[in-house]
Amino acid sequence: MEPTALERSQVTPPCADELAGRFPLTPNPHPASEERYRRIMTDLRFGVDFTDHLVHAHWSAGEGWSGRETRAYGPISLSPAATIFHYGQECFEGIKAYRHDDGSIWTFRPQFNEARFAQSARRMCLPELEPGDFVAALVDLVRADAKWVPTDPGSSLYLRPFMIGTEPHLGVHPAAEVDFYCIASPSGAYFSSGFEPVSIGLVRDYHRAGPGGTGAAKTGGNYAASLLPQKLAAEEGYAQVCFLDVTGRYLEELGGMNLFVVGEDNTVLTPDVSGGTVLEGGTRSSILTLLADRGYDVRTSDIALDDLLDGIASGRYTEMFACGTAAVVTPIGCLGVDGQRIEIPTGEVTRGVYDELTGIQLGRVEDRYGWTYKICDGENDR
Ligand SMILES: *Cc1c(COP(=O)(O)O)cnc(C)c1O
Repeated sequence: MEPTALERSQVTPPCADELAGRFPLTPNPHPASEERYRRIMTDLRFGVDFTDHLVHAHWSAGEGWSGRETRAYGPISLSPAATIFHYGQECFEGIKAYRHDDGSIWTFRPQFNEARFAQSARRMCLPELEPGDFVAALVDLVRADAKWVPTDPGSSLYLRPFMIGTEPHLGVHPAAEVDFYCIASPSGAYFSSGFEPVSIGLVRDYHRAGPGGTGAAKTGGNYAASLLPQKLAAEEGYAQVCFLDVTGRYLEELGGMNLFVVGEDNTVLTPDVSGGTVLEGGTRSSILTLLADRGYDVRTSDIALDDLLDGIASGRYTEMFACGTAAVVTPIGCLGVDGQRIEIPTGEVTRGVYDELTGIQLGRVEDRYGWTYKICDGENDR
């Protein structure tokens, strides 16, 4: 399969030792107490508790990037007039650090997230980081907080790089001052009780993205726009929503996950990303490669709702799953369409993709693609 523009823009990063130290560490003078640390590492609640440090750098239109630092995690102080509060000028990423069985700490395809962060920044009129700084930020934060990378099965340290316009000015223009941060949250396995299929409600009345909009950028506004349809669907008992394109005929994606449909005869479909209304996931990209190498006939093409419903009824389509960094692979067990609930079985393709991808991420399955990136040995860090 032809690489996408985003995949082509990936740059292989230098090794972690070469990047380390770009964001010099001032150790947190008040790190978490032993008791609090143990409580957090036992609960492992996604996105609720954070590590001892954060990474930060400042940009101004006159001077570019400066002030790179790794310092104590804590509240940040901004002018109430900062553009982020008024016009939502921001972008973010989500990527994980995993502990392998030998204690070493790795991340997964950081060059993909680096390239996507740059793409999102361009769309949001934010400055791009300097080459290598995205991965260097991950390296410096994870090395400072290595003891926070959990070891439980399925757990990881979730990393959240983000960039915000901070110029104090209510005029509508690209901020002349911007801040970049990365924070980290120790997280447990997404599926606490095994591989659980979720129910998805199809949204008719709202769209996540439109042609020429910000759908291909990882930016907060897309999520803000998805909250209401998500809430309405939750009231009807659905765990997630699936958005359609603006014509209402084709499936696009979930609020924060890409979508796959498995057909008979080893075919696998996922919506094309070239139209700019679907956020191109690294998990999606990896799954396409894995399935193509396993001999599946993978196609990026429009998935028409009518054809999907027909095909589920006739057995032509056999499995559906969603994917993204946080949950990796989520089987879709039920599709809600106009008040009707359509059951979908969970099959071996979904399960196989999950096992192989998590196996590579955890260093238990051979990484034939150079996707895993070593951050540190992780010795003596606990
Ligand atoms: C982040 C995100 C995804 C998944 O991307 P991954 O790189 O696989 O984590 C899919 N859709 C949306 C809207 C997203 O924000």
